[in-house]
Amino acid sequence: MTIYNFSAGPAVLPHEVLQQAREELLDWHGSGMSVMEMSHRGKEYMSIQADAEKDLRELLAIPANYKVLFLQGGASQQFAMVPMNLLRGKKSADYVHTGEWSKKAISEAKKFGAVNVVTTGADKNFSYIPAFDTWQRDAEAAYLHYTPNETIGGVEFNWVPDTGAVPLVADMSSNILSRPVDVSKYGLIYAGAQKNVGPAGLTIVIVREDLIGQVVAGTPTMLDYKTHADNDSMYNTPPTYGIYIAGLVFQMLKRKGGLAAMEQTNIVKANLVYGAIDTSNGFYHCPVAQSDRSRMNIPFTLKDAALDGDFLKQAGALGLLQLKGHRSVGGMRASIYNAMPVEGVQALVSFMNEFAKLHG
Ligand SMILES: *Cc1c(COP(=O)(O)O)cnc(C)c1O
Repeated sequence: MTIYNFSAGPAVLPHEVLQQAREELLDWHGSGMSVMEMSHRGKEYMSIQADAEKDLRELLAIPANYKVLFLQGGASQQFAMVPMNLLRGKKSADYVHTGEWSKKAISEAKKFGAVNVVTTGADKNFSYIPAFDTWQRDAEAAYLHYTPNETIGGVEFNWVPDTGAVPLVADMSSNILSRPVDVSKYGLIYAGAQKNVGPAGLTIVIVREDLIGQVVAGTPTMLDYKTHADNDSMYNTPPTYGIYIAGLVFQMLKRKGGLAAMEQTNIVKANLVYGAIDTSNGFYHCPVAQSDRSRMNIPFTLKDAALDGDFLKQAGALGLLQLKGHRSVGGMRASIYNAMPVEGVQALVSFMNEFAKLHG
């Protein structure tokens, strides 16, 4: 039986990448060593990391005045590193509150400075993104932080806020590499790798050079972007194996036609699932406003929550795993990142249709 893993993260990885990693596990390219065993300062590993950076730069067309950093600590550590590095003596920062992850970013930022919440989706239980022209922005803000894809609530921006001279900061943990992005519109982009890139333990930061180097006094060396930028992410031991696997994912994305091709497939996959929900005569329900629905994480409930257990059990018997919704939301959540094949989505949709017919 083919297993399809709909986990929100750590999440499914491309089968061909795992196969390649297995083939190279004990002996990478005739080195006689596993990548896990290599010195991070040796020429073999240095070439792996350099290639990973080069391929990521190519995929996202990252301009030359941006640094790519391979860090640890997860997106959660970026919730602190962003204000520590980017407040740069300014009084406050703007934050967009669209759900659980932006809320966490906001509470962490409050430890370092004043936070101006420019808008919140709280009035409709975070089921939508408030229109840009209603945001209460501060022209003097150090930066504006938002979460382009709320992994738990399933709302996603299909547009980029235009903040003018105020640097735009994005937590792209759950939708980086799912579509082309104009990096030049951003001051800083960060993402934990374990949703759409690779294994847990690697965090990617893409930051415009002029924003680096003005941390608050007393900032630990490891939490200063400059430390990592000046040392090609090798100030200390980087998460070598995670970077290697991410590098294989970047190569695979290039082979498959890059991010424009990924976007087309991701649209097809998302439409299949939303189609099943919207044509179920109310058997399934997605709370998110049509225009703000995520292509990556699709939360939905069943008409009768008493059927949740049966739904999960029968789905599991068919190899459709990890569909249980986040504990704060309930119901179901299908995460359909880049690595989820169309066949997996088709299998889910057939099951959903069948289940609705039987119990509707
Ligand atoms: C998962 C997630 C996080 C938290 O990531 P960690 O790597 O566990 O710290 C933060 N933001 C978003 C949008 C996420 O999806």
